[in-house]
Amino acid sequence: MNDTTTAPVTVIGLGLMGQALAGAFLKAGHPTTVWNRTAAKADQLVAEGAQLAPTVGAALKASPLTVICLTDYAAVHELLGADDVVPTGTTLVNLTSGDSARAREAARWADRIGARYLDGAIMAVPPAIGTAEAVILHSGPQEVFEAHRSTLEALGTVTHLGTDHGLAALYDVAGLAMMWSVLNAWLQGTALLRTAGVDAATYAPFAQRIATGVAEWLPGYAEQIDSGSFPAEVSALETDARAMEHLIEESRAVGVNAELPELFKAMADRAIAAGHGGEQYPVLIEEFGKPRDDA
Ligand code: NAP
Repeated sequence: MNDTTTAPVTVIGLGLMGQALAGAFLKAGHPTTVWNRTAAKADQLVAEGAQLAPTVGAALKASPLTVICLTDYAAVHELLGADDVVPTGTTLVNLTSGDSARAREAARWADRIGARYLDGAIMAVPPAIGTAEAVILHSGPQEVFEAHRSTLEALGTVTHLGTDHGLAALYDVAGLAMMWSVLNAWLQGTALLRTAGVDAATYAPFAQRIATGVAEWLPGYAEQIDSGSFPAEVSALETDARAMEHLIEESRAVGVNAELPELFKAMADRAIAAGHGGEQYPVLIEEFGKPRDDA
């Protein structure tokens, strides 16, 4: 079965994100039922054609597909956890942010109560919802995703990552690691250059080129990680560690915070001490793949 633009959908949770989700379903032509603890947040959506359900149970019964977007998983369980709230056989797509353990636990709960369940993660801000720019990740049974794919596509670029319900949450945090790492590296360089009177806007295009160039290494480095073999094709880790030392010394000399490069260097030093100095940078996956020894 595939949904069409006339497939009804329910949205539970009308915070900033839930309102955007419901608005996108309405705009795409889906009959949309909404419910929120604070009912007034539905006013605008009702004016645009949404149906406001009187209770959360009525909202769930109104559509075969319900999208949930609350603050956290505790709120989801508090709201939907009581017996007989969720109709048997309904499909829940939980786009509430959380970690992979909570996602898998929610999937087990849904299984126990006879609901079909996808866990999801929204990698976008509310104004992007309904545009291709909004990336929305889903994990759980493929057939459940396929049954509702065309409805979910009203929200943005939707992807099914796999049957493990924890995958969307894991991709979500992996994306955050990427985002903050790139931003922190850029801020480090900006702070260094500002000591010589170079403003952030002047450095930004240069930094962008470096970030794009480094991003192009990822597929090749991923092959090394997946094969477990790290020949130093372009540079050995011990060479990189010497360059890290320059970055640390320069930062200290010009009065800039050196904590970030010190962290890189500490991890590289541990890998070198473990005998990996002659291998290529991705060998650090062995440091990233375990808790810090003294933590
Ligand atoms: P928000 O504006 O704070 O809305 C939170 C929603 O959760 C409201 O509808 C609130 O109801 C409801 N809620 C909280 N506790 C509840 C409970 N115990 N019972 C019933 N309803 C409860 O947050 P948001 O920005 O919409 O974010 C919602 C989710 O989307 C979060 O998991 C967030 O991480 C994720 N997300 C948000 C963004 C973003 O840019 N906003 C981006 C990606 C992902 P009331 O209105 O009654 O308080």
